[in-house]
Amino acid sequence: MTGPRVAVVGAGIGGSTVALALARRGVDVAVYERRPGVPPVGSGLGLARNGRLVLTGLGLGPALDRTGAPITSMRLLDAAGTERAHYDVGALLGLRRADLLGIVLDALPAGLVHHGRECVGVEVGDRPRVRFADGSVESADLVVGADGLHSRVAAAVGPRPDLAPSGTSALRGFVDGRGLPDAVRHGQNAWLGLDRHLLAYPVDRVGTLNFAAFVPRPPGDAGDWSFRVDPDDVRAAFAGWDPDLTALLARADEVYRWDLADRDPFTPWTRAGMVLLGDAAHPMLPHMGQGANQAIEDAAVLAALLADVGDRSALTARLAAYERERAPRTARVQDGSRRNGRAFSGGSSSPGGADLSWVYGYDAPAVGLAAARRS
Ligand SMILES: Cc1cc2nc3c(=O)[nH]c(=O)nc-3n(C[C@H](O)[C@H](O)[C@H](O)COP(=O)(O)OP(=O)(O)OC[C@H]3O[C@@H](n4cnc5c(N)ncnc54)[C@H](O)[C@@H]3O)c2cc1C
Repeated sequence: MTGPRVAVVGAGIGGSTVALALARRGVDVAVYERRPGVPPVGSGLGLARNGRLVLTGLGLGPALDRTGAPITSMRLLDAAGTERAHYDVGALLGLRRADLLGIVLDALPAGLVHHGRECVGVEVGDRPRVRFADGSVESADLVVGADGLHSRVAAAVGPRPDLAPSGTSALRGFVDGRGLPDAVRHGQNAWLGLDRHLLAYPVDRVGTLNFAAFVPRPPGDAGDWSFRVDPDDVRAAFAGWDPDLTALLARADEVYRWDLADRDPFTPWTRAGMVLLGDAAHPMLPHMGQGANQAIEDAAVLAALLADVGDRSALTARLAAYERERAPRTARVQDGSRRNGRAFSGGSSSPGGADLSWVYGYDAPAVGLAAARRS
């Protein structure tokens, strides 16, 4: 084997980042994505210092700076709008999910992502074989499962805990923030109440704000991001709250619902030439804003470990090293996300403790290089 041939399933943030990091190291990689073309706009996302470090190292810093909104602190407010606490969020960049994904995908060599290819299973053998809904099959030395919460690759790797619905839903949308008070337009704000809370932050340089309201799950199932609801639902859920918040929600005209679920931490993430990353390996609730950031960290560590792999036994050892490095950290973030969700929706102004340096201070490329040297 002269360097592994890698097939990545899923061109989300994790899959596209690992593909870029591998392509930059000269690894033969292809990505298979079920969606036919560009992803839907989706929602907003906070790229934190730990994720930003990885993407900047891949040369994406200027594009990110041109596109995103810098955010330095987070205010925690009660329902009346009184500030209860504020803390450093570590050079956060607010972005539309689609803009972030577009920046990573645009940096990939042409032809590397194959759209409209839905993985329906992986056959284990001498080399894993990925089967697609259109009947086609691809084999590779390594299959990376970056196919999200309901990962098909994870199902082939082994048993995993059932999905754990949190009993809450996110109601999300964008509004034009121009004309709203500066503290609302430029920072990250969380309004906290007894069984619900709402987070808002800017996602571009022209004043668009993303909001995510976390409320007890309404009846019925929201299948995916495109489950549209009546904007009056979110206004009703926060009626009588801080006038700055109700002014923000008065501008909402498109609101989408997403029912939140995670899984308990699990391993193994790897088996017979398959490995998991991102939500496929460690789906988490969004209350630390780290799901995508952790997927990006995974990508950096895995790519550093795969860069100079010569034969199959070395590949197995490197995949084990990846799981050893990443599983404890992501389990800690999964746990912190659950705790923050409970604290935020209990009206607490001290979720997760103020010291988040262990989250933001992680240097994934350096961790990957050190792990590669050790193994
Ligand atoms: C309400 C909410 C708010 C959030 N806010 C933040 C935030 O501020 N910061 C943050 O870091 N994270 C945030 N997250 C988490 C973040 O969205 C996810 O953790 C992140 O998108 C995971 O990336 P991924 O690449 O692993 O998976 P995904 O983004 O789910 O990508 C998986 C990809 O695989 C494709 N796919 C799926 N199945 C198949 C298949 N069978 N065959 C081929 N392709 C397939 C999908 O189409 C998709 O493109 C939030 C999540 C939620 C729900």
